[in-house]
Amino acid sequence: MSKFFDYLDSISQVNGLTNGMGNGQKIQWLFHCGMLFLSKDKWWGDFKFRHSAHEGIDITYYRIRPDKLHNFDNSIRVPAMENGIILNICNDFLGQTLVVEHENSLLFNRRLLFAYAHIIPEKNLKIGQVVKKGQVIATVCDTYKNPQLPPHLHFSCFEVLKKIPPEHLDWNLFFSDNLDVNLLHPIFL
Ligand SMILES: [Zn+2]
Repeated sequence: MSKFFDYLDSISQVNGLTNGMGNGQKIQWLFHCGMLFLSKDKWWGDFKFRHSAHEGIDITYYRIRPDKLHNFDNSIRVPAMENGIILNICNDFLGQTLVVEHENSLLFNRRLLFAYAHIIPEKNLKIGQVVKKGQVIATVCDTYKNPQLPPHLHFSCFEVLKKIPPEHLDWNLFFSDNLDVNLLHPIFL
């Protein structure tokens, strides 16, 4: 089972997103193709093309009952996918991004990074701090900077060489064609 699907369960758990029937049935997550990894499509506005292929997955749409589609608002809490250490907190085009190194990655000269983007980090979090799997680390931020988009969590996974200083781990680097950065598919972690 992919970690990513467990992670969706974890998001529903920390936010109490259940189908309300008390039967333990899971909610359904929905993804426009433009929300998926490496998609070149936009899932907002004119639905045309992105400037570059999508570096992660966008999460916002879910269904509790078949007849009603929901999207995240800025009260949605974001759990950590895995144990890790916060290496950087940087800005993105909607809010902020937490860059967390996977605690147990066994890579010799590389780090495995998770980027939680378009969020507001919890106030007590600092660079260098340890986070635990399932711990709430942020809330999804509002999207007044681009009202065509609903609030959503952008999740990316990167492998980067350890020689890159942690303070350089931001979107300037992730968007660049730097050969020291590898983009990974979040669903096949
Ligand atoms: Zn995204």
